[in-house]
Order: sequence, then structure tokens, then C-alpha cells
Amino acid sequence: FPEARISLDLWFGDAAQCFPLISSKQPIHAWFLDGFAPSCNPELWQDQIFSQIIRLSAPGTTFASFSVAGVLKRALQSYGVHITRPKGFGHKREMLKAVWQTVQDRSPIAEAISPQISQVSIVGAGIAGLNCAWRLAQRGIKVVIYDESAPLSGGSGNPLAMLNPKLSPISQVAIHLMTIGWQYALRFYSQFTAFRPIQIQQSIEQKNLESSKQLLADYPPQILSLHDQSDTPYLVLHKAGALQPQQFAEVILAHPLIEFKQAKIEKIKQLSDQVYGLYDQQQLLDRATHIIVCNALALNQLLPDTPRLKPIRGQVSWVNMPQPFVTQQYYTGYSYGGYAMPLDQNQLIFGASFLPQQTETDTRIEDHQHNLDLMTQILPNLADQLPPIAKWHGRAALRAQTADYFPLVGQVDETKPELYCLAGLGSKGFLFAPICS
Ligand SMILES: Cc1cc2nc3c(=O)[nH]c(=O)nc-3n(C[C@H](O)[C@H](O)[C@H](O)COP(=O)(O)OP(=O)(O)OC[C@H]3O[C@@H](n4cnc5c(N)ncnc54)[C@H](O)[C@@H]3O)c2cc1C
Repeated sequence: FPEARISLDLWFGDAAQCFPLISSKQPIHAWFLDGFAPSCNPELWQDQIFSQIIRLSAPGTTFASFSVAGVLKRALQSYGVHITRPKGFGHKREMLKAVWQTVQDRSPIAEAISPQISQVSIVGAGIAGLNCAWRLAQRGIKVVIYDESAPLSGGSGNPLAMLNPKLSPISQVAIHLMTIGWQYALRFYSQFTAFRPIQIQQSIEQKNLESSKQLLADYPPQILSLHDQSDTPYLVLHKAGALQPQQFAEVILAHPLIEFKQAKIEKIKQLSDQVYGLYDQQQLLDRATHIIVCNALALNQLLPDTPRLKPIRGQVSWVNMPQPFVTQQYYTGYSYGGYAMPLDQNQLIFGASFLPQQTETDTRIEDHQHNLDLMTQILPNLADQLPPIAKWHGRAALRAQTADYFPLVGQVDETKPELYCLAGLGSKGFLFAPICS
């Protein structure tokens, strides 16, 4: 229900283990307790479960269940929850309806609904900051997003980004961020017109042919298929995508609860128990109760105790093609160590160079040449159609890479629960950002 601003969090696991992990900052307004009869499923009706349910609720919270078993009624009543037993559905004689009233019974639901977090400041308007901003705004929270220059002026500002995971065996999906991130990102971005579904031909090195065949056995053919008849075998990932960052950013920044401000945040300082100050070089710009730092490589300057991020320079190239793409070509991308895909009906975008520890972002002929060489090895026919390098366009930017290739996500420091970061997204920021935010 995108217009209704509802988001659904699904927790997989045992309630006894999951409930203690859920934050109580936003009270739950309504519970449907559907855990089978207490006689069949006693674990779910233990006191430690009820105490968690109450911890996550607030005066005004409602409870409903098909069960009217004594253990359920007594447990809720012991916390001051008022119980009624109207006529049940279908063959059920009664059901349970309950509400947690205050002593004064002054209809506190409105108080409970008003979010305790009312405004969040985000530093950095790349794909990480934009995803965070959208998530919060969709939950009714006001966001101010800062960028030192313009939105998408860092790594996220290429004309088109590919959503291209290296899939894991199905048995490892639950712990493989890239596979989970891919499924999540496709569903998330497909609500935006900036998204285009594509299939990707992923070339396979001979040494990886066997493991690719095993992967093939794991996934249904509508998702993954193999072409191994030629010298250059490849997997076809049928469910992939391309995102136009500029078009995406326009929609995000038009959200009525999101405000963009241009400023370089030089310092974040705790002003009191729950208030932080955001400073530029001279002055205090803003106060915030919650901050998310999404400024990629500059994270270590702003928050010096964060794990080191390594810069990796990269350049993409794009060119006009002699013929417009036909439909099937338009919806096909290629991945071969580098990547290529139609930027629009007439242009091809491809890349990307990968130069660790280089921090310059000038566009270079040698990076174009590198992109050409990569393509020529695997897709010589496509490379042959490219115009001379002098006619190419390019953009260079920096990736921010962590030592273990996993992004940095979440609370920066246990003693500062209001300060978060999402950074170090490496080469797959567009894939990781939706799930991480
Ligand atoms: C050539 C190239 C091609 C790539 N292709 C793909 C691809 O196809 N698919 C994919 O998934 N990933 C791709 N990546 C990786 C992807 O671009 C990154 O992972 C992603 O952009 C990281 O997003 P981010 O928001 O963390 O950082 P950024 O996009 O770099 O955003 C950080 C922002 O913070 C701002 N900022 C910094 N310091 C401050 C400050 N002090 N105050 C205020 N603002 C500040 C910057 O101006 C910047 O806008 C590519 C990267 C490169 C370099």
C-alpha cells in the first residue's frame, strides 16, 4: 500500500527470541494473537512472552485473538488490560477483544501514535542517504538531508546503476547479504519509474563452470539459466535491474517530509543527553535528536572512531551507438568483470575501472581504454561497434570499501544510541542500500 504509508516488518524466528530484539521506541498499537490454543502451543503463552508484548505496547494498544483461554485472559488482565468476549467468528462461540486502558481512561491512543522520533538529520545525499530518508519519511518522520555539494555528487551519481548480484547457493541465502539485498532491492526499486527490469548475462570463467552449474540446480529457470555452448559460457540472471539515480533522487527529494540542505557537515557534537549539534566550519547549523551519517569515504573524518574505509577510484564510459537498441537488447545487460547495458534507446554505458587508493576523480583516457579492453575480451562484437574513444563520455568517482566488504550499518557507538551510519557500500551500493536502510 505505497500511498497509505504502511510498511510491514516481518520477523522470522521464535517469538521468545525475536520479541526482546524489537525496539520499543514506537509502541505497537494493535496485536493479533494467533498462536494456536494454549493447550497445543504452550510456549507462546508463557509469561516472558506476555511481558514482552506489554513492553512493546502502550496505553491504548488493542489485542485480539480467536482464543479465550484462561491463561491468555489472566495474563493480559494481570497487566491491567481490559478484556471483553464478544461473539466469535464462524463456529467459535466467543473471541477475545482487549484494550490497555490508562487509569484515567483518557483515550491515549493519539499520544501513542505520535512518533517519538519526529525529525532525523542525514549527512550525505547519495544512494545510502536517499534510501534512509525515504524509509523514514514513509513512516511519517521528518528528514533533513545534507550534502556538501548536490545530491548524488559522490559515487552514486553515474547516469545508470546496475543491480547485479553474485548469487549464493540457496542453502546460504539467509546469511548472504548480496542475495537478500538483490531480492529486496528489486522489489523496492520497482515502485519507481527510475527502475528498469533487465536480465543480465553473467560470464563464467572456465574454473568456475562447475560451481555455476551447481548454482543453476538451486534456482528455478525463470531466475537463472546457463548458456555453455560457446567458448565464453554465461549464466543468465533473468531477474535483475537498472536504476537511474537522478530520476530516483528527484522522487525521493520531492517527498513532503524530506528537506534537502546544501552544507558540508564538519563536526557532530553532543549538546545534551539527547541532542546533537551539526556544524559547518564556522557555526552550529542545526540540532537533531537522531543523525544518520551516509557520507561514504568522509565517514572517518566526521566520526574518527569508525572502521577505516578504503578509496577505490572507478570510471564509467558511455557512448552513442550506431543503431538504436531493439527491445530485447534494451532489456539486457552484461557482466564480465566489467559491465555494460543500454543507458537509453541509443546509448551504451559500461565500465568500470577499479583503482584502489586513488582519490582523484578526473575523467581519463586510460580508464576509457581499460573499459574498452575489458569489453573486447568477452564481447568483441559489441566492442567493435563502439565509436572512437575521443567521442566517449565518462564520469569518475570513488567507492568506499570496508576491509571485510560488508557495509557499515547501524549504531555508531553503544553509548550514543541516536547516532547511526550507513557507509562503506563498496561496489554494490545500489544493491545494499535498500535492505540496509
Ligand atoms: C564507476 C563506478 C560504478 C559503479 N557502478 C555501480 C553499479 O552499477 N551498481 C552498484 O550497485 N554500485 C555501483 N557502484 C558503487 C556505488 O556507486 C556505491 O556503492 C554507492 O554510490 C555508495 O553510495 P553512498 O551513498 O554510500 O556514497 P556516495 O554516493 O559517495 O554519497 C556520499 C555523499 O556524501 C556527501 N558528503 C561527504 N561528506 C560530506 C559532509 N561532510 N557533509 C555533507 N555531505 C557530505 C557527498 O557529497 C556525497 O554526495 C559504482 C561505483 C563506481 C565508482
